[in-house]
Amino acid sequence: MADPIFPVPPVRQLPLPYIERLLTRDIASIDLVVIHCTELPDLATARSYGEQVRYDSGAGNSGHYYIDRDGSIDGYVPIDRIAHHVRGYNPRSIGIELVNLGRYPHWWDSRHQTMHEPYPPAQIAALRQLLAWLKRACPSLRYLAGHEELDRERIPASDDPTALVQRKLDPGLRFPWPQVLSDGDWQRLPPAA
Ligand SMILES: [Zn+2]
Repeated sequence: MADPIFPVPPVRQLPLPYIERLLTRDIASIDLVVIHCTELPDLATARSYGEQVRYDSGAGNSGHYYIDRDGSIDGYVPIDRIAHHVRGYNPRSIGIELVNLGRYPHWWDSRHQTMHEPYPPAQIAALRQLLAWLKRACPSLRYLAGHEELDRERIPASDDPTALVQRKLDPGLRFPWPQVLSDGDWQRLPPAA
């Protein structure tokens, strides 16, 4: 029987220092996986962002899992804890972060809104393996969504306050949705009206 908190292979367990401060939940309440990319140069930088305390509770922002370009998977938050990774959907969801530059370091510059870095095959293979395991571990899990679909906020651009850019654009146009959705009976989460 697999450990419901962390998959056995191939996840390296590296819990964030504040996981005890994150609310617990019933695994059966999870019906959604949100796909993110870090929009940062590497996993070490993403880790340091994840460790930063941003709330009075002593917790910060992070996904549950981080997948590096070579396909290695780190577990930062156990799935029976609610992580802060997406506005409005945290209690029901698992956040998976893919290491990818995204718009780094000009996230909100109106002249740099194209995400160029491809997602390597090893990274996508690891994601698919992780998703398959999560589907078995979480009985209600059936929806997949990209962060950009769930957080549609537009904010003034850093280079031109009269222009608006998407606050969140991950995982972006480079993410291979057809490939990932072909694995099983995943459904795209219908965006809220
Ligand atoms: Zn995101």
